[in-house]
Amino acid sequence: MNNAVKKIVVLGGGTAGWMAAALLKKVLAGAIDIELVESEDIGTVGVGEATIPPIRLFNNVMGINEAEFLRETKATIKLAIKFDNWRVPGEGYFHTFGAPGKSLAFCHFHHLWLRARQQGNKTDLWQYDLNYLCAMAGKFAPINAKDNILELPYAYHFDAGLYARYLRKLSEQMGVVRHEGKVQQVFQHPNGDIKCLVLDDGRELSGDLFIDCSGFRGLLIQDKLNAGYDDWSHFLPCDRAVAVPSERFEKTLPYTRSIAHSAGWQWRIPLQHRNGNGLVYSSAHYTDEQASDLIMANLERKALAEPKFLRFKTGRRRQQWQRNVVAVGLASGFLEPLESTSIHLIQSAVVRLIQLFPHNGICQSAVNEYNRQSELEYTQIRDFLILHYHVNERSDSQFWRDMQQLAIPDSLRQKMAIFADNGQLFRDQNDLFLESSWLQVMLGQGIEPKDYHPIANNFSPEKLRDMLANIQAIKQEPLSKLPDHDTYIQTMINRS
Ligand SMILES: Cc1cc2nc3c(=O)[nH]c(=O)nc-3n(C[C@H](O)[C@H](O)[C@H](O)COP(=O)(O)OP(=O)(O)OC[C@H]3O[C@@H](n4cnc5c(N)ncnc54)[C@H](O)[C@@H]3O)c2cc1C
Repeated sequence: MNNAVKKIVVLGGGTAGWMAAALLKKVLAGAIDIELVESEDIGTVGVGEATIPPIRLFNNVMGINEAEFLRETKATIKLAIKFDNWRVPGEGYFHTFGAPGKSLAFCHFHHLWLRARQQGNKTDLWQYDLNYLCAMAGKFAPINAKDNILELPYAYHFDAGLYARYLRKLSEQMGVVRHEGKVQQVFQHPNGDIKCLVLDDGRELSGDLFIDCSGFRGLLIQDKLNAGYDDWSHFLPCDRAVAVPSERFEKTLPYTRSIAHSAGWQWRIPLQHRNGNGLVYSSAHYTDEQASDLIMANLERKALAEPKFLRFKTGRRRQQWQRNVVAVGLASGFLEPLESTSIHLIQSAVVRLIQLFPHNGICQSAVNEYNRQSELEYTQIRDFLILHYHVNERSDSQFWRDMQQLAIPDSLRQKMAIFADNGQLFRDQNDLFLESSWLQVMLGQGIEPKDYHPIANNFSPEKLRDMLANIQAIKQEPLSKLPDHDTYIQTMINRS
């Protein structure tokens, strides 16, 4: 019991630091003291505004009221991402959080659709997806679906700074102690474990377990413990971003936009009070000046600040838990925000730590399991991101031609091959992305399955046509009753 973990020190007060402190305190409650140190002088990365549906589980566990959350963080609803110009310039497709149609036992809906298409059905797959229909109509309200055919999974766009501030308030109410100051020295025990952090005014913060949320640098996990980094820039060569907020559009879209350019892509994230914008690009293909000119020319609304440049190296910390340090957030690695996965990676890292929590002392088996799961999670997301780049039909720039030639991981190659051969998709070991996500991006990027599952042949052409028409009608039905997205947000934030 001597090594029992009774006190946690969180280094960093960005989205990662405050999500970690808040969830650990909420779930582990009185058993653990938590202190967090952050430096206003150093600041946070200041981006990271689009999320995916599991964030709602985080908020629920935290006991967060949705109306208050929307008000405090200036959030909007996210139903999907629209990818423009990714396969070819001038065309787009959606990756929604929903699933098309209704699947049969052992046979996903898209096999029925593939067969119907061979018989002349011209309806595109997304017409059977409620998320898509709501996104296009700009409508939203949560649907209490009795049947999963009418599920409407959603996430949020929010102001990252306001979200961290909100979580700080909740954390401090629960007893998390915050220190303002710069960590200047880090002392280790003779065995190499971290003993304490020393701040610029001499204060010492000692702990049993340290959560490194210090951002890209990884002050503890890398600078002190040298955990190493798997560099994946040969798979995902974009290495810079330039971000700039702009005035909001009159109507707030309930989805993120990802607009491909000749050597990178632009995000547009609609919030209540502004749009978040940025360009992720490859420095081998654009200079910073070109990137900044491009994003400024594509804002469509007045910029609200100067462009801010960020550099990154895609990859992951080789050991995300080492000794008594767990790296969370940017300190644990970075995958570009194409599918808005970083905040989710923070959440899943903290949940994993809670599941493996070393209350009686850190044991290597728990550390190994944590690191195994993190590696798998990062690798699966990496593969999904590569898919967007690699499968393209763009011949208009060197960047996109290079992407077509990319040597891709075998895991992805196999997934693409089986889908191209017979339309099959399988979810690997807790992959964050369900079959419907892989389906939408594979089709959207231009992989056409040569065949479909024979179960789709169990229906006569007439029966199949009726089934599809019926499903389409069911999916359309809620639209007329749903409010506009802006009306929904206004109603929620005016709620007391
Ligand atoms: C271009 C870009 C776009 C992104 N878009 C998205 C998105 O849309 N969706 C998404 O999910 N994620 C996105 N992300 C990722 C997201 O921004 C991060 O995952 C998230 O903000 C967490 O950052 P962090 O808290 O790990 O680091 P940071 O925000 O960098 O925070 C680091 C903290 O450590 C503190 N600190 C550092 N050194 C010291 C020291 N010596 N002493 C005291 N304190 C110290 C700092 O003060 C700060 O509080 C994006 C990232 C980038 C780069």
